[in-house]
Amino acid sequence: MKIVHIASEMSPIAKAGGLGDVVHGLAKEQQRLGHDVSVVLPKYDIIKYKFLENLELERGDLWSFEDTFRYHNSVWRASVDGIPTYLIEAHHNQYYFNRGSIYGCFNDVERFLYFCRTALEFLYTDWKKIDIIHLHDWPTAPVAMLAKKLYRDIGFQFGAIIQTIHSIEHQGKCSPRSLTRIGLRGDDFRTASRCQDNSDPSIINLLKGGIVYSDFVTTVSPTYANEIKTKEHGFGLETTIQKHEHKVRGVLNGIELEFWNPATDKSLPNNYPSNATFIDKIIEMKKKNREALFKKLNLKNTSGPLVACVSRIVEQKGPKLIQEALHHTLEKGGAFILLGSTHDHRYEREFQHIQEHYKSNKGLYIHLQFDEHLARQIYAAADVIVIPSIFEPCGLTQMIALRYATVPVVRFTGGLADTIVDVQNTNLPANTRSGFIFNNPTPQELRQTMDRAFNCYQKNTSEWKTLMANGLNLDFSWKTSALKYQKIYEYAIKGYLTASKLEDAI
Ligand code: ADP
Repeated sequence: MKIVHIASEMSPIAKAGGLGDVVHGLAKEQQRLGHDVSVVLPKYDIIKYKFLENLELERGDLWSFEDTFRYHNSVWRASVDGIPTYLIEAHHNQYYFNRGSIYGCFNDVERFLYFCRTALEFLYTDWKKIDIIHLHDWPTAPVAMLAKKLYRDIGFQFGAIIQTIHSIEHQGKCSPRSLTRIGLRGDDFRTASRCQDNSDPSIINLLKGGIVYSDFVTTVSPTYANEIKTKEHGFGLETTIQKHEHKVRGVLNGIELEFWNPATDKSLPNNYPSNATFIDKIIEMKKKNREALFKKLNLKNTSGPLVACVSRIVEQKGPKLIQEALHHTLEKGGAFILLGSTHDHRYEREFQHIQEHYKSNKGLYIHLQFDEHLARQIYAAADVIVIPSIFEPCGLTQMIALRYATVPVVRFTGGLADTIVDVQNTNLPANTRSGFIFNNPTPQELRQTMDRAFNCYQKNTSEWKTLMANGLNLDFSWKTSALKYQKIYEYAIKGYLTASKLEDAI
């Protein structure tokens, strides 16, 4: 199949969170399955050029439209880890992609609407036939409307459009005028069955448009696919999801085993196999990595566990509970490392205040930046990773942690519920138990669950080893998930696969 992902992120060249990992991991696995896969991205100024191979100008004369103006664009072609990648450089007077970050600009909606229009203009003028156009979250959701309501009418051919919801929280809301600016008559789309926002009838909801106009919608875990049908997790789109339930399914994300591999990870001072057969060696090497990390961060080694949190710091991730975990770990004589990225000054101040409070305590390190090199060293050194999310569409950090033999303490929600089995869960086979789970996002439940983990770590070495080994034996590679996407694609391109066969396959 000819597959094109149109996305706002792709690891490692432009990543803000899990979406970037997913686009890279899924595209790579689809290549392995023999598909012809490409990715189209904005050419941000923050692109990591060192990961672009064979960068060359594909087109210097791509014209796009906004309002009544024509804008000139260049399209660059490169290979990112073997994945053909097209980067759209907008020569636009608003410098849409030269803002020093992927998101967080005052006019993000306009930036991505322009990108969607230009990406489609590129596909329409350059590519003959595409089987699948795969969209990711609200930034590229408008492609579904543009393709079905504008470009198909002028002869653009494609098999089906897939919309993946990595998080339903952010939806891309704008005035109908913003849609009109990219060539769709905004007011025509502002109806309940199209993309009128469910809460504010005067505005357009771009993610709703992606759901309505795509042929199939996926979310990044089965539990999250169910959760977003509810008022608690749907962020106002629950009724839209219910209405389109027949074409909504959850497919668990995978992780790239080569990319996240402690045996070859160049960031680690001491590599080790990700293979439970070598559990004693792994424990020894993790200890060495911990010593190296403590030295680097000027921390004092303790006999207690090293608990880590690697996360964006946003409400979704439970910042209050992260703070609770931090205090509790230090109270119990452990060490705590937080690597948290945030644009929110409130959280920055809170965590800086905590850092100040524990100034003389050499068991705490807080770094409020995005730093993949350090993240890898943390995964390899930590005993426990804590993920107390309020909601979590899938979550990759728990899977990465398992691959680095770090035991997760997580809240039972979304993809965390689909990937981690509590050590005390006797309903499932013993070899699937890989961590510690709490249900309600309360400080009490978090503390109790951390205590269970600390007790096991300190008093039951053999059970702890078994947990680490179980985690290493679990398979979260992209293989299974990419095959499920393939079945969904075959179903979405009508005629390839029947609905009942799809249900059997996913
Ligand atoms: P989300 O996409 O909601 O941020 P995920 O768990 O799906 O959460 O994916 C997070 C990804 O981003 C993981 O690869 C994780 O290692 C990485 N990550 C998160 N925060 C940081 C950070 N501060 N520095 C480096 N990597 C981070």
